[in-house]
Amino acid sequence: MIGRHAQSITYLRLSVTDRCDLRCAYCMPERMEFLPRSEVLSIDELDRLASLFIKMGITKLRLTGGEPLVRKGFTGLIERLSRHFGNGLDELVITTNGTRLAEHAEALARHGVKRINVSIDSLDPATYARITRGGDIAKVIAGVDAAIAAGIKVKLNTVALANDNLEEVVALADWAHQRGAAISFIEVMPLGDVEAERIDQHVPMTEVRRRLAERWSLTPLTLNTGGPARYVRTEAGGTIGFITPLSDNFCGSCNRVRVTCTGQLYLCLGHDAKTDLRGLLRSGDEDALRARIAGAMRHKPLAHDFMIAPKMVQGVKRHMSVTGG
Ligand code: SAM
Ligand code: SF4
Repeated sequence: MIGRHAQSITYLRLSVTDRCDLRCAYCMPERMEFLPRSEVLSIDELDRLASLFIKMGITKLRLTGGEPLVRKGFTGLIERLSRHFGNGLDELVITTNGTRLAEHAEALARHGVKRINVSIDSLDPATYARITRGGDIAKVIAGVDAAIAAGIKVKLNTVALANDNLEEVVALADWAHQRGAAISFIEVMPLGDVEAERIDQHVPMTEVRRRLAERWSLTPLTLNTGGPARYVRTEAGGTIGFITPLSDNFCGSCNRVRVTCTGQLYLCLGHDAKTDLRGLLRSGDEDALRARIAGAMRHKPLAHDFMIAPKMVQGVKRHMSVTGG
């Protein structure tokens, strides 16, 4: 599949649920209203849709949410999708908050999941509980350790937050290094309404990088994943990524599209334009569905429209938990 600006689209992020067992303050409001179940794709529909994308040229599939591991039947979905390995699909990966990873790590590894992204914004129990509104960091640490023990490569994702974890960035990177895990720091993005003002939460990556550079010398890596991450290597042998969707323009080489848990195809996280796939998926007309996907790809934009500047925030209305991170 080729985008309007000749981007080769090989990577699909598919959200399997908008529900979550946490309520991270930058991601969703405390009283988040979840979608009626009938609007969310069933496990069978998720399988059929992902399988069609694989037939159409997607080689890397990331399942996300919401929290994918709270979705009933999720491990079964992974097992079903694993039939595409060697037949179009190269990589099946997951983004999770890790709270239920300890229970599922072994089964995920058995069905071919080799890499997992785990979101950890603090190692301090009180800070973690505050950011996630009630999360237990001990469960996440147990999940990370279980995944590593099962042979899964773990990457940590940390959203840099001005008032919550800026002081902890070196400790987090150190912790990741000790486990042989890469860590990426992410700028907070204006996605959906939350209680806090985005401008108060936002930390430029230059500040995170400055703090890490006081501890290690950071050697840039040429590794390019087709996304907004730029990686460095530390002399301790660790890899650190900086994800800067707001301050960098990475869009020309963007290789990914997203499908929400309700079957809406978004060609860019930072645009509101979408294409409904659920109607045709539910009608069973695979040819029409294929044509709709192929037609939509031709509209993949060249750049996102995000902006965070003093006293001004321009974002999109959807929460990240709906679109899938
Ligand atoms: N629940 C899983 C998790 O937390 O990893 C998967 C879904 S979550 C929406 C995916 C990623 O999006 C997480 O790393 C989270 O920190 C990030 N995220 C959520 N809202 C965000 C925002 N407004 N700006 C930047 N990152 C955000
Ligand atoms: Fe849930 Fe992930 Fe959003 Fe946190 S970031 S509320 S864990 S979906």
